[in-house]
Amino acid sequence: PLVLGIESSCDETGVGIVRGHELLANEVASSVDLHARFGGVVPEIASRAHLEAMLPTLERACAKADVDLTEIDAVAVTAGPGLMGALVVGVAAAKALAFALGKPLYGVNHLAGHVAVDLLEHGPLPTPCVALLVSGGHTSLLLVDDIAGVRGRGIVELGATIDDAAGEAYDKVARLLGLPYPGGPVIDRAATGDPRAIAFPRGLTTRRDLEKHRFDFSFSGLKTAVARWVETRERDGLDVPLADVAASFQEAVCDVLSAKALAACAATGATNLLIGGGVAANGRLRALLAERADAAGVTLRTPRPGLCTDNGAMIAVLGAEVIDAGGRPSAPDLGADSGLPVSRVLV
Ligand code: ATP
Ligand code: MG
Ligand code: FE
Repeated sequence: PLVLGIESSCDETGVGIVRGHELLANEVASSVDLHARFGGVVPEIASRAHLEAMLPTLERACAKADVDLTEIDAVAVTAGPGLMGALVVGVAAAKALAFALGKPLYGVNHLAGHVAVDLLEHGPLPTPCVALLVSGGHTSLLLVDDIAGVRGRGIVELGATIDDAAGEAYDKVARLLGLPYPGGPVIDRAATGDPRAIAFPRGLTTRRDLEKHRFDFSFSGLKTAVARWVETRERDGLDVPLADVAASFQEAVCDVLSAKALAACAATGATNLLIGGGVAANGRLRALLAERADAAGVTLRTPRPGLCTDNGAMIAVLGAEVIDAGGRPSAPDLGADSGLPVSRVLV
């Protein structure tokens, strides 16, 4: 099906158009620059930016795909999770569009979208597969039986962070190092030093932790350890070797993420591992996962970095999967759900 997808859960206004697994357009307008001086996303500013960007982005997507709105088969939209005031802009726009065109509307899960986007690059997903979802607000290991959430166990969360998300850790550590927001890409580029220079803690990896938290993550202790290390250096009048601190912090994050992702593959018998979410764009994470997946005989599926961060195409392709799986359109009074669990693909 020819599906138009709308994304507005955080600070990116995205409109994507797909035909099944074929990507026709993926236009994104980001308000990230407006939030930079606040060191994080300001919800009111994001909502207003979505309102202003929605129609121009929609028009650009249609032009890019060379598609007339009347040709599309369905409209898909992020129904959650995310910032309430940001989500409602996309949901309202999608409802208006679906109603005006007389086309079905599908409210879908943003996190499942981060996983589904890989279909645009690597085609049908061999299942069951393990997905490592690493974004600004979430970090979890998922067992995916069916990305549309219908067959088998659908999407099951094997574990998740018990405090900060991986992207959040990058953003907070960047801030304490005096680097701009968003910190992920900046630390990725700054991490040119020795990853073994400083032994930062690997959260929830002791034998005891693993008994209860085998597939869970924790990054707040790591963030505190980096803060302490930097404070001590400054107190002693020493310089802070940014390249080494960034590389050592990044290694601690990527080591745990990749070790637990491969442990989840081993435990579930999945031979395919997929990554999604903004942090999946990280160079070191991709390299370390590739190395360890290869050693374990697991096929790694990594969407190109541009598809890892928020966009409309991931919502469109998830909508197309849901339609192919026979999913029912959402009710006309579809609302946004800021706390939508990842197991609920279609609202
Ligand atoms: P969620 O999907 O959980 O609702 P979100 O949509 O805000 O949250 P994404 O847009 O998927 O999150 O990802 C944004 C996060 O990804 C930010 O924390 C950002 O710092 C991080 N990020 C982006 N690029 C990189 C990179 N190259 N390395 C590490 N982190 C990165
Ligand atoms: Mg963003
Ligand atoms: Fe996201």
